[in-house]
Amino acid sequence: MKKIEHIGIAVKSIENANQIYTSLLGASPYKMEEVKSEGVKTSFFKIGDSKIELLEAINPDSAIAKFIEKRGEGVHHIAFAVDDIQSEIVRLKNEGFIVLNETPKKGADNKLVVFLHPKSAAGVLVELCQDRK
Ligand code: ZN
Repeated sequence: MKKIEHIGIAVKSIENANQIYTSLLGASPYKMEEVKSEGVKTSFFKIGDSKIELLEAINPDSAIAKFIEKRGEGVHHIAFAVDDIQSEIVRLKNEGFIVLNETPKKGADNKLVVFLHPKSAAGVLVELCQDRK
């Protein structure tokens, strides 16, 4: 793994949270993107080499809607950048991690992404992401 690519934060209102994070970081989001397959609207802030991803549910079935219902707004996942997502899947499965989607899917920000179950990662939802070529 190369670095923390971004931290994902589940929010009720992305407009509201955009204002909060713009004030906090002193910079506006550099992109907003809807990922229909995941049922989310996202916005991204750059902070040095890392990013903050805000996620708002666009339908009640999305994982973000369920997360907020159970736990309220807050940190949802930590994403690590990897060079070779397929070999990381194999490596992490061998280490005993539960891979939620073994076929990488298209995430926001032009990435291929895979998630690890929080119960195998000390309670944290982990995302691996690789740049799509
Ligand atoms: Zn993410």
